Amino acid sequence: MSTLRFEALKEIFNRKPVKIEEPARRSELFGTNVFNEASMKQYLTKEAYENVMEAIKTGKKIDRRVSDHISTGMKEWAIAKGATHYTHWFQPLTGATAEKHDAFFETQGDGTAIEKFGGGALVQQEPDASSFPSGGIRNTFEARGYTAWDPTSPAFLWGTTLCIPTIFVSYTGEALDFKTPLLRALQSVDQAATSVAKYFDKNVSKVTATLGWEQEYFLIDSALAATRPDLTLAGRTLLGHSPAKGQQLDDHYFGSIPSRVLAYMRDLEIECMKLGIPVKTRHNEVAPNQFELAPIFEEGNLAVDHNSLIMDIMSKIAEKHHFKVILHEKPFAGINGSGKHNNWSLSTDTGTNLLAPGTTPMKNLQFLTFFINILKAVHDNEELLRAGIASASNDHRLGANEAPPAIISAFIGSQLTEVLDELEKVTDGKLSPKEKTELKLNVVGKIPEILLDNTDRNRTSSFAFTGNKFEFRAVGSTANCGNPMTILNSILAKQLIEFKTEVDALIKGEKMKKDDAIFNVLREYIKKSKNIRFEGDGYGEAWEKEAKKRGLSNNRTTPQALKALVSEKTRSLFKDLKVMNKIELEARHEIQLEDYAMRIQIEGRILGDIARNHVIPTAVRYQNILIENVEGLKHIYNEDFKKHSNEQLEIIEEISAHIAKINSGVKAMIEARKVANKIEDAEKRAFAYCDDVKPYFDEIRYHCDKLELVVDDELWPLTKYRELLFTR
Ligand code: ADP
Ligand code: MG
Repeated sequence: MSTLRFEALKEIFNRKPVKIEEPARRSELFGTNVFNEASMKQYLTKEAYENVMEAIKTGKKIDRRVSDHISTGMKEWAIAKGATHYTHWFQPLTGATAEKHDAFFETQGDGTAIEKFGGGALVQQEPDASSFPSGGIRNTFEARGYTAWDPTSPAFLWGTTLCIPTIFVSYTGEALDFKTPLLRALQSVDQAATSVAKYFDKNVSKVTATLGWEQEYFLIDSALAATRPDLTLAGRTLLGHSPAKGQQLDDHYFGSIPSRVLAYMRDLEIECMKLGIPVKTRHNEVAPNQFELAPIFEEGNLAVDHNSLIMDIMSKIAEKHHFKVILHEKPFAGINGSGKHNNWSLSTDTGTNLLAPGTTPMKNLQFLTFFINILKAVHDNEELLRAGIASASNDHRLGANEAPPAIISAFIGSQLTEVLDELEKVTDGKLSPKEKTELKLNVVGKIPEILLDNTDRNRTSSFAFTGNKFEFRAVGSTANCGNPMTILNSILAKQLIEFKTEVDALIKGEKMKKDDAIFNVLREYIKKSKNIRFEGDGYGEAWEKEAKKRGLSNNRTTPQALKALVSEKTRSLFKDLKVMNKIELEARHEIQLEDYAMRIQIEGRILGDIARNHVIPTAVRYQNILIENVEGLKHIYNEDFKKHSNEQLEIIEEISAHIAKINSGVKAMIEARKVANKIEDAEKRAFAYCDDVKPYFDEIRYHCDKLELVVDDELWPLTKYRELLFTR
């Protein structure tokens, strides 16, 4: 083992476990660092409190005069908890969260100072935004962007900083972040779903889209991670031979959690409790050193904020435990990557989950209405959904025989399939009383008992119904959930608006009863959306062929997938709902293409460096040892030496052959990069990186990994997979 690797491993064995102070009850900690309803009641005037609550419930603007009261109360609360600074906390399109801290402290001009935080500073800020991706929305001479308070996501305290969740928009009002379109989409789906829910219950006045994410991640000891330039800079390994033992035995999944890891998880959970992130589940995942954490679901906007926040604090807390958190979708070849399942549903202000079958036929008709509309929306917009999860890192996962493929399909289980098959037979036009009774009793009425036994869960499906919610499984582990959630809620909003129009037209024109009209429209939707339903093995080759026959898209790479973001269909969808305009969509398209090309460029550079600065010199050194050995043998055996050095000579040649391939591969890759870099058009450049640069990665890696197997372990400088994955 090389000295570098040995020293890193030695450090790990000397690690002392971090002591965690557990409170008697976690529930006592919950939300203690959040400016929530309880703290607002305590710190705000009655008028200010009522204003905030109304803004949260109805989106009503907060009075400027009142905002001064709110900011003062918020400041007092934060200072009482030790805060010195405040920041607008937002989610620019870099994918990371952003913050710029300002002190409460202000001088008064007479030599004294006070703590101050005015309503203006709460409501709006103007960070120097010129370095955030804008996709050409802002010219550099007019680089202003501003952040504005989002009262629907409560302010929180992190360390000694009061963080205020905000949207981030350009001076001309275009969204520059993930939150702005999400809020618009959530509002659209609220309106559309409320008017449909009123068919079944007049008392519904608000529908909330809910999200419960499950976050997968790897934990690698920080000393080991630091020895790998690829993990450090790209968040994934660009080379490394598979270990003799990987995940074949499935002995890691749900296995007992290693004590060092458990200490980290507990520490993280305690911080989450204080921040009001309701984490509930933790377990080992399939791959060695891979884990998962999941909270109780929340309202969509808050859940997205909490996921962004947690991705940040996971790394911060890991420092204390000497771990590096790896969120990348595919950090290690040959073993499972990470995803972020997005469990999604809709709930009414009357306390009903619209995707949970009920106890009466009427409730179940409501369930079926939303269920079938979702299938129709996914069917009609599968390509856009795929675009919503596209990234350079997620490309490694989708279609890699372990994660849902790049094809979007919906799994609903055999029993619901039967229900839909029955509904498909509903008579065209008005239903006879007999048929209605039959439907209500034997088809719709039977759903709850059916679902209780519906335990078969197809893990290979990208979009699966799991009893009372859909689970979008193809979302990448590094992704900001805001993007897929904006798309999902928008396509459903549009679908529900269409549904309402069609049903109302039948009621009015054909004088149908409401139920008849609903059954008639649903029947057509079931027929039209059939192609999106797939119950079989989503990882298999047979499905790829079948999906092609069905006309479903299979966009394997990000540049290809992103095209759907700027199609005419997408443009009109987002325009009609006022979620995003043409400029915003085009900007996002360009930002994502640029991000893609840059990431491949960076990985290409890292791989080139490692191959030439680490791998080739090491291989040459080992080859020299062999040459020396052969020369020694020659000295001893003279003419006879060949008989004794055949193997050595073979390895010497093998090494030369691999070195030659690596070198020519790196040279060709650099040339391909040069060509790609000259391309002005962002889309063409992304395609050049995808089609002309990236293919060299596998070739270079192949030869490096072969050398890892040949070269003396004592010389090999890069920490090996077995050390990265099995040391803790
Ligand atoms: P798994 O998918 O791992 O088997 P579960 O199905 O029990 O686990 O739940 C997974 C996630 O689904 C949890 O994070 C939970 O918060 C979320 N979830 C449950 N109900 C809903 C809902 N109505 N809306 C959104 N998310 C939900
Ligand atoms: Mg799940």
